[in-house]
Amino acid sequence: MEEADAAARQAEERGRLLFAQACDFVLGAASLDGIPPAELPEVAFVGRSNVGKSSLVNALTARKTLARVSNTPGRTREINFFRLGGRLMLADLPGYGYARVSKADSARWTELIFAYLRGRPNLRRAVLLIDSRRGLMPNDTEVMDLLDRAAVSYQLVLTKADKLKPGELAKVESKTLEDSLRHGAAHPELVVTSAVLGEGIPELRSRLAALTES
Ligand code: GDP
Repeated sequence: MEEADAAARQAEERGRLLFAQACDFVLGAASLDGIPPAELPEVAFVGRSNVGKSSLVNALTARKTLARVSNTPGRTREINFFRLGGRLMLADLPGYGYARVSKADSARWTELIFAYLRGRPNLRRAVLLIDSRRGLMPNDTEVMDLLDRAAVSYQLVLTKADKLKPGELAKVESKTLEDSLRHGAAHPELVVTSAVLGEGIPELRSRLAALTES
């Protein structure tokens, strides 16, 4: 038990050190032609519009304005790349599921994301964000199918955990985990986060740091 605790502490320390390094915006790409060379291990963040993706990226990197926290969901149509300390590339994928987006735009989203996911050799993991208050929605499941088909391993993360009472949160947690087990490429674990309280942030940093080591 003590050994496991010590290992977990060391992993968190490696995560803390990684995310304490400089994190710089590289570029935003609206098509595959514009994406940066596949030089570093990469992690992609994906989720519905307004799920709290920008807030989470900012909390991970401890910067307030790295990823733009938006009040107009559905506007970002680019993949934004951030380089973390010369060791990890973070790819912030455009949000999906915004009601006012046309069918054509939504098809373009799927095409860009699928092409990116399938053709990115340095992509180690996708982090799929789920709003704690909603749990898995139909278009989250569609994205999980997409990830399964692209054979990208992915990790589910619940956001905005501070919005729920502990009992409600526990229910969403077990339901989400149970549903994710039906998907081939999903990691059978869930990280529960709150960008507001900082909950789950050290844990997620340590998971991502581990991807730079293998
Ligand atoms: P994005 O569209 O996925 O990038 O989501 P944003 O990061 O822009 O967040 C959408 C809204 O949710 C904003 O009003 C944020 O302030 C709010 N939000 C994001 N994360 C949290 C969180 O952990 N807790 C709470 N209570 N609100 C959050």
